[in-house]
Amino acid sequence: MVVRHLRRLLAGRRIEQARLLRPRLVPDLTPRQFALRLRGAGIDKVGRRGKHIVIELGNGWTWITHLRMSGRFQLLEAGLDPKAEGIRFTHATFRLDDERQLIFSDQRHFGLMMVVETARLGEVASLRELGPEPFDADFSCDYLESRCRESRQAIKLLLLDQSKVVGLGNIYAAEALFRAGIDPRLAAGGLTRRRLVRLHREIVEVLREAIEVGSTLNTDPQEVYGRYGNGAFEDNWRVYDREGEPCRKCGELVRRFTQGGRSTYFCEVCQR
Ligand SMILES: [Zn+2]
Repeated sequence: MVVRHLRRLLAGRRIEQARLLRPRLVPDLTPRQFALRLRGAGIDKVGRRGKHIVIELGNGWTWITHLRMSGRFQLLEAGLDPKAEGIRFTHATFRLDDERQLIFSDQRHFGLMMVVETARLGEVASLRELGPEPFDADFSCDYLESRCRESRQAIKLLLLDQSKVVGLGNIYAAEALFRAGIDPRLAAGGLTRRRLVRLHREIVEVLREAIEVGSTLNTDPQEVYGRYGNGAFEDNWRVYDREGEPCRKCGELVRRFTQGGRSTYFCEVCQR
């Protein structure tokens, strides 16, 4: 997961110098303003909201990055040239107080950054109205239950609704529902407390396992953009992308149907 790596690499560091090479990456600021807001700033907190990486700085500003399609951060040792290291499309560089450099590159130029006052973070429209992430303390079983009670969505669609929970994704929603034995088509509002407790546990568990698998497969420690959700966990999938293959639990063939425009995989016997 991007942010876990970033947090480990950046927390407690200070940005000595920021250089914006593609001005359109930060549409609201000039390269000079951008550099001034980040220069000398300590990195207090590295978090994520949806696809945004949210970095709280010690100087009252918060630096927000939206990776979009192909934006990525990589960390280089001091003195290494991004181009010589095979990094193309470098759009911004950040020299840290340990002399390493954080490089932001973006092949497709969709990435966006902004620097806003931390006190006014709540006013940033693109960050608002997102639910908690599965690992947030806010994503409790009570939280899940109350979102379900007020919803008329099918449970699978609710799990993909970013205003309810962020970043679960199609694969892990399907896997968590399988593990919890819940038919993805069931109305979220009708699920018993007992079933939701189980579902909540399986959501956290399946993500935890995926991250573990992903981090052991991540052979390049400087590759900050993780492989989370990108196939590293594939061998562990129990239903996802297994249409017509036998269920690992009961042997029934895994079925697929389309729900809200996305493929849903499930076992009719194990999921009721
Ligand atoms: Zn089954």
